[in-house]
Amino acid sequence: MVGQAQTLYINGEWRAAAAGNTRDIHCPADGSLVARVSEGDRSDAERAIAAARAAFDEGSWANTSAWERGDLLLRVSDILVRDREEFARAESLDTGKRVVESGYDMDDIAACFRYYGKIAGTDPGHVVDTGSTEAISRVRYEPVGVCGLITPWNFPLLQVAWKVAPALAAGNTFVLKPSELTPSTAVLLMRALHEAGLPAGVGNLVLGRGDEVGAPLSEHPDIDLVSFTGGLHTGRAIAASAATTVKRVALELGGKNPNVVFADADFETAVDYALTAIFLHSGQVCSAGARLIVQDEIHDALVDEIVRRAETIRLGGPFDEDAETGPLISAEHRAKVEDYVKRSIEEGAVLRTGGRRPEGERYASGYFYLPTVLDEVRQGSQAVTEESFGPVLTVERFTDEDDAVRIANDTHYGLAGAVFTSDVSKAQRVANRMRHGTVWINDFHPYLPQAEWGGFKQSGIGRELGGGGLREYQEAKHVYQNLRPEPQRWFSGE
Ligand code: NAD
Repeated sequence: MVGQAQTLYINGEWRAAAAGNTRDIHCPADGSLVARVSEGDRSDAERAIAAARAAFDEGSWANTSAWERGDLLLRVSDILVRDREEFARAESLDTGKRVVESGYDMDDIAACFRYYGKIAGTDPGHVVDTGSTEAISRVRYEPVGVCGLITPWNFPLLQVAWKVAPALAAGNTFVLKPSELTPSTAVLLMRALHEAGLPAGVGNLVLGRGDEVGAPLSEHPDIDLVSFTGGLHTGRAIAASAATTVKRVALELGGKNPNVVFADADFETAVDYALTAIFLHSGQVCSAGARLIVQDEIHDALVDEIVRRAETIRLGGPFDEDAETGPLISAEHRAKVEDYVKRSIEEGAVLRTGGRRPEGERYASGYFYLPTVLDEVRQGSQAVTEESFGPVLTVERFTDEDDAVRIANDTHYGLAGAVFTSDVSKAQRVANRMRHGTVWINDFHPYLPQAEWGGFKQSGIGRELGGGGLREYQEAKHVYQNLRPEPQRWFSGE
């Protein structure tokens, strides 16, 4: 258990919230108390912003060599590997996620720190051809400044890592505000950064609600960049408030992700991945394959088999060895999912399985919801346009390749999608035409730290991961030098 309620980290020191408030964190699987953390407010956020500003303006961090910053990130990665079980356990207690899944998340997080540790300094800038022997010119990459980092609850530390690692690699300072529902691993990460030698003020952590602690990060004139992962509506509000001070804005928002299955796909593989695509982490994944778009010929067989398999999925808590997936994050979130299913059925969707909470004593104190399949949903209906962020698969049919692409792109989101087919040329054609930031072929869900991640359309602005994820935290500066300075006489002076 993390909590001694001294869980704000500001200017290199652990402290309680100024107002003395705390928040209890309960495991969504059984309601047990797992942590008590400090609950900051606007004044704590402002203190953290001042610390990050001073560390950037007056400290040495931005001027350390990128290699030194890279070394620090590699040390953090080593600590994450060393303390993997402690991190995974804390993540699972906060989210209700199976501890084995949290362990995989920790591997990805360590890999993210390692990746940015290794690429820090590999691309400091470039020389520009001036076309003259009497001038030299170069472009160098500099840190943006003070970054406000705001993250959600579904992959709590992974989303943090995708921001903190490149922000530090580039030489920025930051104030991190994780989801108020899942703060524990952010606290552990700050301990790891402290142990790895991060200078005071460079990294700051403030826990608390979005309207109290998050909002100042998008409003405050001393923040240069706000990077946000979360829901579309919050993202819009953050972009609007950041516009007042023309901050750099990076948004990783939701998705309503198509999983296109052609009749010539390997049947067993398509079924298997369709299940993982949507039911992993009970659908609380921004890139969940929530829309199954299936070719007419195999619709009945594919959906029947998905329904049969969905009914065998075992739900349980983080340490339940039988469990294959866990609960939803909160009672409020489950109520939203229930409402989404109810409205979808009212619109005409056919409920094939699920659509309710599981029965039994072992589920009574958790926020469980059964894997749900809604067939024959209509295009344009809320069932296919709105993100449920729960274990709910909708099914649509298509006739041919053009139809598949049209339906897959018929969304205001554009985060990720997949195509399953045994025809390699068709797979590439469809992938090229899909307006989504990531397209998997005969697979679902792999993320690589070295490949950019982000959304087309209203799934976001900017990219995380890869070289592009580092660029988000850099400003390009052009430095031009005249090698033969002498008066130009543009204005004659007469
Ligand atoms: P959310 O938008 O409710 O909250 C996200 C974060 O924003 C939290 O830390 C919250 O406290 C904070 N926040 C809320 N209001 C704020 C405000 N006015 N100003 C500043 N901060 C504020 O999202 P959530 O429910 O925590 O997460 C689920 C959403 O995140 C889903 O829509 C999901 O698709 C999305 N998501 C996207 C990605 C991606 O990579 N694109 C990854 C994970 C989750």
